[in-house]
Amino acid sequence: MTDRYASFVQSAAGRALVKRLGLPDPPRLRRHHPGDPLLPGPALLGAASGGRLAEPLAKMLTAAGVELTDPAATGQRYGALLFDATGVTDSTELRQLYDFFHPQARAVLPSGRVVVLGTPPRECATPREATAQRALEGLVRSIGKEFGRGTTAQLVYVSRADGTADDPALAAGTVTSLESTIRFLLSGRSAYVSGQVVRVGSGTASAPADWDRPLDGQVVLVTGAARGIGAALAKVLARDGATVVALDIPAAGDALAAVANDIGGTAVQLDLTAPDAPTRLAEHLASRHGRVDVVVHNAGITRDKTLGRMDADRWDQVIDVNLSSQERINDVLLERELIPTGGRIISVSSIAGIAGNRGQTNYATSKAGVIGLVDSLAPTLRERGISVNAVAPGFIETRLTARIPLVVREAGRRMNSLAQGGLPVDVAETIGWLAWPASGAVSGNVVRVCGQSLLGA
Ligand code: NAD
Repeated sequence: MTDRYASFVQSAAGRALVKRLGLPDPPRLRRHHPGDPLLPGPALLGAASGGRLAEPLAKMLTAAGVELTDPAATGQRYGALLFDATGVTDSTELRQLYDFFHPQARAVLPSGRVVVLGTPPRECATPREATAQRALEGLVRSIGKEFGRGTTAQLVYVSRADGTADDPALAAGTVTSLESTIRFLLSGRSAYVSGQVVRVGSGTASAPADWDRPLDGQVVLVTGAARGIGAALAKVLARDGATVVALDIPAAGDALAAVANDIGGTAVQLDLTAPDAPTRLAEHLASRHGRVDVVVHNAGITRDKTLGRMDADRWDQVIDVNLSSQERINDVLLERELIPTGGRIISVSSIAGIAGNRGQTNYATSKAGVIGLVDSLAPTLRERGISVNAVAPGFIETRLTARIPLVVREAGRRMNSLAQGGLPVDVAETIGWLAWPASGAVSGNVVRVCGQSLLGA
């Protein structure tokens, strides 16, 4: 679906009108193309005194081809501002963030990036340190709303438990539990992700031979792959090197075959709610591939009605497709040990699961349940080296959102920091990052792909 207003705004007449009337001004977002540099310009890296990450981060960025510049350079404009705030142990020391960001607030290039690194408050040594670290969220989320022109802002809490401070590999600037996340957040892959708090913990992360093919050799299952976000996912994951098993209902067989053929993947026609679906799927994966490295639970449906008007069928179908079928499939794949160490389970939730939505009690229940699934499975599966995460899309331009009445649709599209809907590829790129073998230290996260939507913020 096209956003005609966003196209109009890019024209000369559109620009003039937007300026005169103070209308929303959706910027053209920087999106990823293989071979792109990580940033559109140099980066500025700052640190609070005593920070544990600035030095290894500088090495990592330089090795990744990012030019780090001096703040003294006048008139310099930046592709990214990064700040290591792990040294902040008291609220009075937050002033160091003001001192760093204040002079650069207008120096960020369009589609630039702001990334602040902190220590998870729960791991802090004192209540004062935990308080100051928690305060970082407010700063980052506000920068996301203020800087404009497609700039995004994120906070990454980096666990102390991962030995980052003295990890020799990190110090050498080669491999790290943090690198995949930094690369994702700086690149055009994270175009529609803003105002997020990402937690990087301990976990095995292996750097790919080629960061443009971070999924080389991985077998990935994508459910609901015949169209919309699932079709974009199949494409992005195959582009990144994965062998994709694309699944959808038999009625979507033709579209599914087209997606699978296009990317050299295989198609599985299966209704996920059929009683024998988990075993049939497990048998297919076992016989064709012997394993599945990444499971992406993307298939989902809506059956909207306000609760008083909703028949039980609508309730049952939505909970079954969006939540219970995921649980049944996980159980069988895990029981049969088809998801190996280093495996990934990634579910698609929704901001409706965070904020709730009128007319969507069934859908919001199922999508909040998906978050519960991540919370409950991540700690248990960590021992098996399997990560579990979810993405929560906001307004994404698909057939699902095309059905929303015009006025509500316009509101949904514009009520976010980027003043536009996201594209299926934005959700796909975010899932891709979580799927990478290099992202083994990212587990238990729910990452919103919503342009920092005001809903549930
Ligand atoms: P879509 O309707 O375009 O695609 C969903 C796919 O899932 C379809 O191909 C459908 O055939 C398949 N599917 C449905 N029931 C199935 C079943 N029982 N077995 C196998 N396949 C089944 O939807 P989309 O917009 O691409 O959404 C994908 C996911 O993203 C869904 O989980 C949705 O809830 C979520 N989401 C979408 C948005 C958005 O704005 N589009 C926002 C938040 C969350």
